[in-house]
Amino acid sequence: MKKSSIFNKKYSRNTNYGNTDYDCDDCACDCACDCDCACDCDYDCVDYASVPNLTAWLHITNACPLGCHYCYIQKSNDAMPFEVGQKAIQTVFQEALKHGYQVVKLKYAGGEPTLNFGLVEALHQQAHQLADQHGLQLDEVLLTSGVMSAQVQQRLIKMGMRVMVSLDGLGMEHDNNRPLLSGLPTAHMARESLIALKQAEVSVVVSITVTRQPAHSLIALMEFLLEWEIPFSLSFARDNAAFPNREQFMPYNEQLITTMQVIINHFAQKPSRQSLLHALTDRANLGQEHHYTCAVGRNYLVIDHQGNIAMCQQEMQTPITTIYEADPLSKVINNDIGIKNLPVDEKEGCRDCEWKYYCAGGCAALTTKVYGRPDTRSPFCEVYKTIFPEVIRLEAAREIIEWSESANGK
Ligand code: SF4
Ligand code: SF4
Repeated sequence: MKKSSIFNKKYSRNTNYGNTDYDCDDCACDCACDCDCACDCDYDCVDYASVPNLTAWLHITNACPLGCHYCYIQKSNDAMPFEVGQKAIQTVFQEALKHGYQVVKLKYAGGEPTLNFGLVEALHQQAHQLADQHGLQLDEVLLTSGVMSAQVQQRLIKMGMRVMVSLDGLGMEHDNNRPLLSGLPTAHMARESLIALKQAEVSVVVSITVTRQPAHSLIALMEFLLEWEIPFSLSFARDNAAFPNREQFMPYNEQLITTMQVIINHFAQKPSRQSLLHALTDRANLGQEHHYTCAVGRNYLVIDHQGNIAMCQQEMQTPITTIYEADPLSKVINNDIGIKNLPVDEKEGCRDCEWKYYCAGGCAALTTKVYGRPDTRSPFCEVYKTIFPEVIRLEAAREIIEWSESANGK
């Protein structure tokens, strides 16, 4: 399954939609093209950052069997009812049409969405029908812990949807971060699901959350993923109101810098064939200029299991509208309360930064949580400024090797 079937035409890279949700974190290739790239990855390579899309987080269930130490969801056993899901899909398409979007992107999330998998299947079908009916492009991704039954795995394979699996290590380090609520380990289950999906040619990507794992365990995980040709991206665990075990798991800048430098040095000594340009820099995107870190407040709807709509998944406790209102996207765009996702030029300390259009100043939810205001640089700024040049050097060295191999006919 090479490219996503939805992108047959080219879109201008100069459209300023920012780093909407950089789904070439679904792609470890370094293409700067409009997804007509020549990389040989077997996953979807779509530069969504340059495409005007309306993205919706669908909170399929608020339940999850895991008790991750950095989770921001205040879990319960409540699932999204069928009628709520149906209405949510209708609302998302209605808003896409009203606001002139060509692409609808749906994130089936939670909680653990495979716990309410019948709903995912029903909404997937409904979304395809509506996309066909209105001539819109549809992109879907399921966000999962990978802890799922073999039966759900088979149904997921049949659906052919892209899947993002969270994996924080190959064994103990993953288990430390992401145990079951009972405390039992989950790494083996997540790994097995990931490989089963990959072998069935499902487009999979891994999201790695960096807490305080040792660098060597992250390197082992990345080497494993590179060997399987599974794209991945690292995110630094962000402080949030619910972070259950902050003292033990929250990364701090000095430690993140050391960890990232060990990783970068490893790949400098042992270059990977795949580009790591988009894999190592948290929410930044060194491959494309952008002005916003994410889509919050512009083209993003976070729909909870009851049909309430929040600005960001970290603000689900404080929704600002619902799927039943006439034009919830306008309410999100014009909202004055809660999270403010400012363009980087409005952030103090970022305005004069040489990296500003590649970094965009970081996650607004985190900056607000830590500094009480969104209009300043990210709490991870020090880490970003240290690693950005090193990641670029790493990429340059990789490209030189690639170029020289191709010049020598290898
Ligand atoms: S100042 Fe820091 S947070 Fe702001 S754009 Fe530059 S690197 Fe990013
Ligand atoms: S504000 Fe932060 S947590 Fe919310 S969507 Fe944007 S980057 Fe993600």
